[in-house]
Amino acid sequence: MGLFNRRKDRPATSERAEDGQPAAASQGHVPLAGEGSPDAHDAPGAPGGQGGGWLASLRRGLKKTADLLNTDIRDLFKKQGRLVDDEFLRELFAILIKTDMGVGPAGEIRDRVQRDYRGRVVQMDDVLQTVRQGIRELMAQQDEPIAFAAEGPTVILVVGVNGSGKTTSIAKLAYRLVAEGRKVVLGAGDTFRAAAVEQLTIWAERIGAEIVKGPPGGDPAAVAHQAVSRAAESRADVCIVDTAGRLQTQVNLMKQLDKIRRVVGNQVPGAPHEVLLVLDATAGQNGISQARGFSEAAGCTGIVLAKLDGTAKGGVVIPIRQQFQIPVKFVGTGEKPADFADFDVERFVAAMLPASSDR
Ligand code: GDP
Ligand code: MG
Repeated sequence: MGLFNRRKDRPATSERAEDGQPAAASQGHVPLAGEGSPDAHDAPGAPGGQGGGWLASLRRGLKKTADLLNTDIRDLFKKQGRLVDDEFLRELFAILIKTDMGVGPAGEIRDRVQRDYRGRVVQMDDVLQTVRQGIRELMAQQDEPIAFAAEGPTVILVVGVNGSGKTTSIAKLAYRLVAEGRKVVLGAGDTFRAAAVEQLTIWAERIGAEIVKGPPGGDPAAVAHQAVSRAAESRADVCIVDTAGRLQTQVNLMKQLDKIRRVVGNQVPGAPHEVLLVLDATAGQNGISQARGFSEAAGCTGIVLAKLDGTAKGGVVIPIRQQFQIPVKFVGTGEKPADFADFDVERFVAAMLPASSDR
């Protein structure tokens, strides 16, 4: 953790607390890398994001959902198993719906259980197997890690509505990349709110990334341009650009994002290499439809589902996957830099519906 010791003393904290910084951070303690948790040894930066760290993180993120789901499903069964009849199928459907996976997916999974087991007495693990398989098929997505540039800095644009978790997710991603040995430059493109720039500055210091800022209220495309130039000139591997979540109108916001895309595209071939849409998992299905405009207008290449730890409705990943047709690349599972996991369907299913022996 020596990497993090070079941060300077931070300024007064009142504004940051308002901007949603974790309480612990504003008390002069920087929570890092699963500190104090059993998986601290394997938390960040395992090569390529593999290893137990992010699996543990994914488990933590899905804990509320898994607790609810597994308690409810267990309650469906008696010791001797249970007959799969209409009543059972109705109850199962109601439980699945509670995870926010949506009526369509819950119905498909119920039908699958009906097809496999109707009229038979089944044990809980049989049903769990079928539910897992149903989720796997509904989610069907390739694992798609960050698409790094062949040459020059990889430019990543991060977009989404205000408060969805953009700046925090940028910090987590940068933390991960730095831990992997990459050099990262951050662009404070949310020039709309002074507090947003300050928030990113504090994160940059903590994680050991350079930050490029513009004047308050300045042109975000100019900041993006400067950040990418700085990344190229300092031979950084990755440049991550923050953006505003809200302007007076959606049209203005989309124009602004377009301009940023054009500007960075002229600087580095293929840039932006990733446009990550950050969604707030606690916003449920409403949040999803709100974000659809972003996804289309901004040419998003992947989703970061933030705040998965804050909800028992982690099933929302399923309709997100279905409606956006772009991969969920990462999930946010807390407020610390290491609370960030690669998304992987298999592990998602394992974390959401662990086998009884794992529980
Ligand atoms: P932005 O406006 O989109 O940049 O959102 P922020 O990154 O400022 O985040 C808004 C709030 O959500 C802050 O209080 C963050 O600490 C919090 N937050 C972001 N990601 C997560 C997460 O994965 N889990 C939890 N529990 N909180 C998060
Ligand atoms: Mg922000």
